[in-house]
Parts: sequence; C-alpha cells; structure tokens
Amino acid sequence: MNNHNDQIRAQIIQFCADIGSNPLLVQGAGGNVSWKDSGTLWIKASGTWLAEADQHDIFVPVNPNALQHAIQQRNFAVTPQLIDTRELKPSIETLLHALMPQPVVVHLHAIEILAHLVRADCEKTLITAQGDSLSSVLVAYHKPGEDLAQAVYDAIMQKQDVDVVFLKNHGVVLGGSSIADIVTTLNTLITILQTPVGAADHTRPIPVSRHPSYVPIQDTTLHELATHSTLFDRLTSDWALYPDHVVFLGPQAYTYTNWEQTETLFAISPNEKPELIFIRDHGVFVTRTFSIAKQVQLRCYYDVIKRQKAGTMLTSLCHNQIAALLNWDAEKYRMRLANIP
Ligand SMILES: [Zn+2]
Repeated sequence: MNNHNDQIRAQIIQFCADIGSNPLLVQGAGGNVSWKDSGTLWIKASGTWLAEADQHDIFVPVNPNALQHAIQQRNFAVTPQLIDTRELKPSIETLLHALMPQPVVVHLHAIEILAHLVRADCEKTLITAQGDSLSSVLVAYHKPGEDLAQAVYDAIMQKQDVDVVFLKNHGVVLGGSSIADIVTTLNTLITILQTPVGAADHTRPIPVSRHPSYVPIQDTTLHELATHSTLFDRLTSDWALYPDHVVFLGPQAYTYTNWEQTETLFAISPNEKPELIFIRDHGVFVTRTFSIAKQVQLRCYYDVIKRQKAGTMLTSLCHNQIAALLNWDAEKYRMRLANIP
C-alpha cells in the first residue's frame, strides 16, 4: 500500500470514529462507509460499529470488478468476493457502495435527515429545503440488500452526477471525491434539514418497576416515550418507521395503560414476556436481556419522533415490508399481529 492510500485510510478511520460517537449521526452497528483505491473496494464489515474504527480494523477488501460486472448484468443478488480471507463479512449494503461512482461513499441513518424521510410529504419538503445546492434523488422504500441496490442504481442512472441519495424510511447515501467533500455535503444537509427540538423533561423522578422481570430503561430520557402523550400515541400509530428499528425492536410496541394491565396479559402467556414495555404516564421498562444495541435503536426512534409536530403524518412500513425484514411469512405475520393484545 502506498502513502497516498495510507493517508486516505487514516482520514476515513478518523471520520468514522468521529461520526460513530455522535448518536445523531450513527446508531450502534448502523451506517457504513467505503472507499475505492487501486482496484479494491474497502467496505465496513457487517455488524461492526463505525465508532470502533480507530480501535480495531472494521474494513474488509472486496473485488470491485466482479461487482461492477454483476451490476452491468443487473445481477443485484451477487455475493461480494473478498480479496483475502477474513473472518468478517462485508456489509449487506456493499452493492450500494459499489454502484455509486464516487471514490468515497457514506451511508447513514442520520437523525436530522431520517426525521424528514419518515414523513408522508418528505418529497416536497426535501426539494424545497435543499434548493439547487445539491444533486440528489429520492428513492422509495425498498428492503435493504438486493432490492434497495437495484432501486438506487435505477435512480442514479436517471440523473447526472448524483451525490446525495435519499432513501425513504431509511437514511441517506452520500458520494464524494474525498472525506472533506463528504463532510461538506453532510454538514450542508444537516444545516438545512435540522428540526429544532425542545429539551427533554428531566424533572420527573426515575420510575419504579412493579414487576420483578423488568427494570427502568437506563437511558432516562427515553421515559418520555411513555410520559409524553403525543410520543406515547406514536408508539402505536407510527412504530415501524425504518428497517433497523424493526429488526432490533420488533414489529410493534408493547404499550400498556397501567401495570395492572400487564399482569393480566402476562398471565395469559407467561413465557412470552416482551423485552421492552411502555407504561402510559409511568415509564419505559426492559428485561435484563435488553442489549445496549437495542437501547441505542430506541434512542434513535425517540430522536426521530421528537422531531415531528403533533399533527405531522408519518409513513410506516406496511405488513409485507415488516415481514420481509424479519424474514417472516407475510401471512404468519398478519396472524401474529391479530393475536397481539
Ligand atoms: Zn441503512
């Protein structure tokens, strides 16, 4: 590897560590970054955290020529080939990075952008907000992986020099000639799309659990999901807003009006207690198996719905889209939903 490539790698690692530590830009293992150098596509490995880029190697080298050939053949189901043997697997979104022509590609679920992409009228507001400052396209929701890669490829083929791809109910893909280029685009987007939010209410005492299986969630800000009536109502009306949320936190929220209601329901199926429950006007409670990765996802959801005005219409994923994300048979899923109290 020559000095120039070393420099690029160092810049990218620093960028990943920086954005990875900002929960408004990156949540857990979400988001991915790639760069192309001397016949190699370096892509974040599946399941790794951008925040840990400066602690261990999170990137794997992939053969871009094989991917380019597959894309030309419209074979979006192609499996990326690693250039050397590593234990890590390339990100599920590798094809999304390969099909973007720019040397550096960044895909994020950035809150200030995602908060727009879940709104029913996002197409109108995104175009008005950015004016002529960027060359962007908006792609309808598709399941991450093959379907999404195909939809993004078709969209960028329709317009010249696209450097921003908005993914409805998902996130954004940025392409640039360098990391500096990406940082400029990202900052521009965040500045124009930022939604002011009121401060979280920290005046309430930490709620007490009334069930031995549950403890109050660690991130105390999240209790607002239960104590703020507009946010609590969103749990039922607008839960499945984007893929990672559904994959980590499941297809629906378990909301209860009081603890007595949970006792009745848990008595019906004692072995199927949900990991995460919301008790109206009281708080958010989790079992001890509820992971940090899941809590980070719930914080993402809080940050997104906190940025919605009370009457704003959001678009949730439909039953078939949720079932596809969970690899559930759509009919089985509808049956399951019907049985949820
Ligand atoms: Zn994504």
